[in-house]
Amino acid sequence: MKIAMIGTGYVGLVSGVCFSDFGHEVVCVDKDPKKIEMLERGEVPIYEPGLDTLMAKNVEAGRLSFTLDLHEAIDGAQAVFIAVGTPTRRGDGHADLTYVMAAAEEIAKAASDYVVVVTKSTVPVGTNRQVKQTISKANPDLEFDVASNPEFLREGAAIDDFMKPDRVVVGVQNDRAAEVMAEIYRPLYLREFPIVTTDLESAEMIKYAANAFLATKITFINEIAALCEKVGADVKSVSKGMGMDGRIGNKFLHAGPGYGGSCFPKDTKALARIGQEYASPMQITEAVIKVNEEVKRRMIDKLLDLCGGSFNGKTVAVLGVTFKPNTDDMRDAPSLTIVPALVGGGAKVRAVDPQGQHEGEALLPGVNWVDDPYKASQNADLLVILTEWNEFRALDLSKIAGKMATAHMADLRNVYSPKDAKRAGFAAYESIGREGFT
Ligand code: NAD
Repeated sequence: MKIAMIGTGYVGLVSGVCFSDFGHEVVCVDKDPKKIEMLERGEVPIYEPGLDTLMAKNVEAGRLSFTLDLHEAIDGAQAVFIAVGTPTRRGDGHADLTYVMAAAEEIAKAASDYVVVVTKSTVPVGTNRQVKQTISKANPDLEFDVASNPEFLREGAAIDDFMKPDRVVVGVQNDRAAEVMAEIYRPLYLREFPIVTTDLESAEMIKYAANAFLATKITFINEIAALCEKVGADVKSVSKGMGMDGRIGNKFLHAGPGYGGSCFPKDTKALARIGQEYASPMQITEAVIKVNEEVKRRMIDKLLDLCGGSFNGKTVAVLGVTFKPNTDDMRDAPSLTIVPALVGGGAKVRAVDPQGQHEGEALLPGVNWVDDPYKASQNADLLVILTEWNEFRALDLSKIAGKMATAHMADLRNVYSPKDAKRAGFAAYESIGREGFT
């Protein structure tokens, strides 16, 4: 089967590469000439483990190609996927559908034979019907169906998530589109996996409900962590004890500096907005959005305490700026709130991140970038662990403490323990949801 994929970002590129690995012929389109040039040279514009090798393998096999020209991509394709961005619209929290609707218009102009237009982007309920109307209006003679196929992959583990999904969700309006979708995912049937075939609205809603639920789980444990600090409990033991309950599960129960990334912040805001529009307020989600902002502010207070009440003149070493390890994605990362507070307060910030420096240089002005944690901690007054990259999980803490002017650490991912820090010679250590020491 031939598939066209519009958008070569984190979702579009991974989906396109994986579909080609299933054996389909995939043509990926992007309107960004720089991205297409890089892809044509065999370079991957994003950091995603394993993607370069899988991409090269499928290009070599002649199943995967890249173009700026949608006409070329859609010619003879049975399905065209829309995997463009749906960022938060300025001002009202709604998902910005400009890119999705522009893609729909372009498809209408480029397609001539029956095709299933599949929305992979995360879009509010009702968007697939809007896509259908837009295409029908722009090309009334075109025979086509729409399908909703939200994506659940996680950056950093995207290929595995795509190849071994917990489930695939497909929203359709008729059997013809359902059959095309089944054919696309057929190679996955070799492994037992559940496919949820439903209507368009339910498929659209599943994605927002799932993301808002996960953001709620993270925020819940972050709030419990704050209470743990007050009552002398250890949030790591609390999450372990909670997570062993099969009804709760142990995932997404790690306390940290607040959720971030390209999905949870914008999708919770969009769901809250949809609730307001339909006069069915999403009160839990609204509270989660508010509490998550407070979590990030609480982190800044923690750092201030460790700096004796002022950042002015302090040198702070920041380990990690991406919103999580194994990605270069900085969208809505907690570092974007925390680092500017440090710089704005007069601190000299030295940052290190295995993949985030390129994005970080653009988004975090006033930061000095170094390439290893030991250089970052030279004469520093505070060490902050913001992202739990593997590179930061087995540091020689004694060596670091020995290099620092004041050996203070804010471990915002609970990578180490107060005991580890004390043994290494740190004079102060604070983490999340556990008693520290000063
Ligand atoms: P992204 O910003 O990384 O990529 C979007 C790409 O689409 C860009 O390369 C852009 O140039 C291209 N584009 C936009 N309009 C186009 C057009 N008309 N024609 C061709 N190319 C066009 O976005 P992303 O992170 O891949 O997210 C895409 C969608 O998937 C969003 O709705 C997001 O919510 C959803 N999603 C993302 C993730 C994730 O982890 N990133 C996971 C699940 C779902």
